[in-house]
Amino acid sequence: MVESRTYLGSDMTATLRPWMVPSEHQGSKLMESCIGACGKTLQNGSSQSIVFHLDKLKIKLEDELLAAGVELLYASIPIALTRTEDNWNGLVIANKSGRQLIRCQAIVDASETAITTFLARQELKTSFNGEMACYKRVLEFTNVKETGQQVISVPSDLGIKDNKVQLYPGFHGNGHYYVEYQISLQSENSVEGNRHRESESQKLGITLTEFLVHNVPSFQKAMLCTSSNELKGPYPMEEEDSRIQENVQIENLSINHPNTWCLYRDFYEHNNAGWLDPVKAASYGEQFARLVEIFILKDKDIQEKNQDTNMDSPYEIRIPVDFLERDHNFVNVPNHEVFLSKTADVLVSGGGSSGGSAAIVSAEEGMKTILVDLNPGLGGTGTFGGVDSYWFGHRHGYAERITKLVKDVQKRIKYKGHKWNIEAKKYALLETADRLGIEMLFNAITFGAITKGTRVCGSLVATRWGACSIMADCVIDATGDGDLAAFAGAKSVYGAVRDHVVMWYSLAQYNSPGKLQNNFTSMVNVSDVKDYTRAILAGRRRWSMNVDGCHDHGIYVAPRESRHIIGDVVMNMSDQLLQRSWQDCINIHLSNHDMKGISEANWLHAGLIPPNLEIEIPYRMLLPKGIDGILVVGKAISATHDALPAIRMQSDLENLGGIAALAAAMAVKENKYPRQIDYGLLQERIVKEGLIPESILTRKLDPIHYTDEQLVSLIDSIEVNEPLYEYSNMRMNEIYQKRIPFVEICTVGKRIIPFLEKAYEDSAGIRKVRIAQALAMYELKVGVPTLISEIMTMLEGEQLPKRTADILYVTMPPDHGAMPDVCYLLYSLGLTRDKRSIAVWRRVANLLNPIDKDFEDKMWGLFYYIHAVSVGAERLGDSEAIPVLMKLWGIPSVNMQYCYSSYQADFFLERRSLLELAIGRSLARCGSPQGYEILINYLDDVRSLLSKQAHTELRLLSGLNLNKDILEWTDWLETEKALLKPQPYLEQTDLAHDNETITRKITS
Ligand SMILES: Cc1cc2nc3c(=O)[nH]c(=O)nc-3n(C[C@H](O)[C@H](O)[C@H](O)COP(=O)(O)OP(=O)(O)OC[C@H]3O[C@@H](n4cnc5c(N)ncnc54)[C@H](O)[C@@H]3O)c2cc1C
Repeated sequence: MVESRTYLGSDMTATLRPWMVPSEHQGSKLMESCIGACGKTLQNGSSQSIVFHLDKLKIKLEDELLAAGVELLYASIPIALTRTEDNWNGLVIANKSGRQLIRCQAIVDASETAITTFLARQELKTSFNGEMACYKRVLEFTNVKETGQQVISVPSDLGIKDNKVQLYPGFHGNGHYYVEYQISLQSENSVEGNRHRESESQKLGITLTEFLVHNVPSFQKAMLCTSSNELKGPYPMEEEDSRIQENVQIENLSINHPNTWCLYRDFYEHNNAGWLDPVKAASYGEQFARLVEIFILKDKDIQEKNQDTNMDSPYEIRIPVDFLERDHNFVNVPNHEVFLSKTADVLVSGGGSSGGSAAIVSAEEGMKTILVDLNPGLGGTGTFGGVDSYWFGHRHGYAERITKLVKDVQKRIKYKGHKWNIEAKKYALLETADRLGIEMLFNAITFGAITKGTRVCGSLVATRWGACSIMADCVIDATGDGDLAAFAGAKSVYGAVRDHVVMWYSLAQYNSPGKLQNNFTSMVNVSDVKDYTRAILAGRRRWSMNVDGCHDHGIYVAPRESRHIIGDVVMNMSDQLLQRSWQDCINIHLSNHDMKGISEANWLHAGLIPPNLEIEIPYRMLLPKGIDGILVVGKAISATHDALPAIRMQSDLENLGGIAALAAAMAVKENKYPRQIDYGLLQERIVKEGLIPESILTRKLDPIHYTDEQLVSLIDSIEVNEPLYEYSNMRMNEIYQKRIPFVEICTVGKRIIPFLEKAYEDSAGIRKVRIAQALAMYELKVGVPTLISEIMTMLEGEQLPKRTADILYVTMPPDHGAMPDVCYLLYSLGLTRDKRSIAVWRRVANLLNPIDKDFEDKMWGLFYYIHAVSVGAERLGDSEAIPVLMKLWGIPSVNMQYCYSSYQADFFLERRSLLELAIGRSLARCGSPQGYEILINYLDDVRSLLSKQAHTELRLLSGLNLNKDILEWTDWLETEKALLKPQPYLEQTDLAHDNETITRKITS
């Protein structure tokens, strides 16, 4: 089943109409079982209705399908029908992974737009004929005073049908209500028609709310929580014109493509309004399945081969195929025509924190702007992703403007919460974008790039009416995942270089209507549609199982991190700690080091949790290396895994989006590529907008050069009075502006080493330990005896020490680099690649005897003990470390943790797998075949980033480019087993040893 949304049951869920009258369910087995699982009967005035628990309804529908053996693919839209060489049907679908072909015998189109009629170029003769029809939309409220009212009269100037709205009680009682309003709109079944309807009716929702909370006594204190993602309709203008057929007529459904049926033909062409009723539609579906006997779908999906290039065109279509991590089984598929084409000055792909603001500024700059987003509206993570407040980040500039717009709406709807109201933010952005004439394509997925040589000229977009192409003079990739840049061929790194780990994603969790709970769970590979679907299934099952637990989950998979596009400059964590200044600085971000996940930087491993820093963003971070015509904004900008946590705050990214739009407008007006514009002029403009200080225009940037005496005094100032992580202990409004001695010392380069060694000899106690850590950052062994003796003293007890430090904002481990103090020293020891470490690791392994639950303990930090030893041993790469690693692997919680099917609601299982992989990598680096076996076992793991990690490592170790195929690798291992040699891992990320060459703003 291919579903364009991220959830099922759209007639009740997308429309936000999770109710029905009790007798209606007769005739549908599915509905009956849904009522049993998640419906309850409520009195609504004089009548009764069945109301569903939204989250449980979504889960129930998924469970039913999965139990029946149906494979689900979310967030995917059909873009072509085809026949394969062996005369099978082919449905080509598009998504964030590009384009894939599903080979099947029969195709059943259950889409509300009757998409297959567009794909088959069959005219859809609709009885509505684009004329006025009636549509329904719903608002969800809490805190409504119970009055038994079912209908509320509203003023005629609102334009609501019959001047009344209908009330339906919500599942949770206590003032939880749905308010349905109907409006007459043009019924054209097209992208444009739909956009117009959605935008008009959404704006009306806020006006209606304003009326209710100000004029209707029972709504005086009501809070608007959410609203329909999609309209329900079209209904005939007069109810009596609505016809519902008892049974489905199969001859009304076929289209001019073999073995293909379009269910909504019956609705559009035969006027059967039964399809709009979820109960009736479910029973039609069941009837249909019985009628169509050749309904044998073979679950074989095949991805298209290579890039699809149209030879007749000066343009190239790029849809790379290596995004899907599993099932690479390629066939050739003919080129498809894309039948709707648009042009713009500026195309903004993605309308989230950065894209919404980018499009608005672009339009204000006079650019004809088109915006494409896969959500049904604007705001991305900040609205559909459920992140309803700023955290760190500068709040001035465009972010301040957006805040003001949102606050104005909140005032209208009497919202007083300290976080923003998501409906208000969606409205504020939509209303502004609409007013500025931005053409918006919602529920639309960018799935390919249009290029000419090295220039990006536009994108391919899948809509519910077919695919379209959009050409633009300048493109802004604001997908947050760098999708468009990656489609165009930009180089990127997924997550961390070493192991592809990313910060935890979130499927917004609404514990009750309007009440969000931030969550920190596991990883997703957004560029692999199978993994995307898995992450949705898993995300929805987290916290939802408590009796009245989670009311609903959001509709957008919000990744904290995904792809990092490699730009002309790649920012790393050392740049941030050294407070590097850039000649082409265009924005200044502000944050603590908000690492919600696993760090790979030696800084955090050494215990240095950074302070709140201001971080300059150079323009070149937005320019993908080797590619023109495009700017990348949002969290995909060119930075490492450990640099992203401090530059990803919403307000900073809203500002960056707007700044990119200024650059795009300059480029378009001057007929240049973004790379060619004069960044000095851009900076002048940004200064005028109040986003960067004027001094940036005239300042002179210099590197710091240390004299020998200064090096000695720098080492003298090394942190001894406080642990390094104390830097992070700052209030939110404080900004750290001094130098960090430990960082300066560790990044000067070789010339500091003699001074460090001398200081080491002359010192004692904690100073000696800290200097030993600094020496370890240079991979020097001099300080090893001190590190070992300090660690062994700390490990003298019968149990491993727990974390004692109180570190701000830490959640379940691994998080934020907060771990027991001894782990920092273990990581430092690991950097020295010294064999004497093995005895220490053995001691750790002997003390480890955890049960599964211990891994969840915030203070235990078990994850870090196992990780520190594994990471150290992989750098040592010595067969003598194998027994210790095997002992670690013997811990049941980290042994054979791979997962080959379905999803895991328990996110800790993934963290334990990450440890197993770390042990596996380490064993392999020490020359043990067992390590290779562990990695091979993960190749088929459903958690795409784990299998990606295993595959990357096997390729690095073997020097071979074999596919992700267990059998192929097993055969290879069988022949190579006896010849395996240790291969220490030598790379260092995020570390610089050249701080005397970089420009900085601190010059004393
Ligand atoms: C769970 C979580 C909690 C956070 N907490 C905070 C916080 O408290 N405060 C804070 O300031 N920051 C927080 N952050 C960070 C911040 O919210 C994000 O870094 C920021 O919103 C990212 O902005 P963006 O523009 O890069 O991406 P997004 O806002 O996610 O926007 C990307 C948009 O692109 C669209 N899109 C993606 N791919 C495609 C495609 N192929 N085709 C069409 N459209 C596409 C998406 O639908 C989306 O609308 C949090 C992030 C997360 C995930």
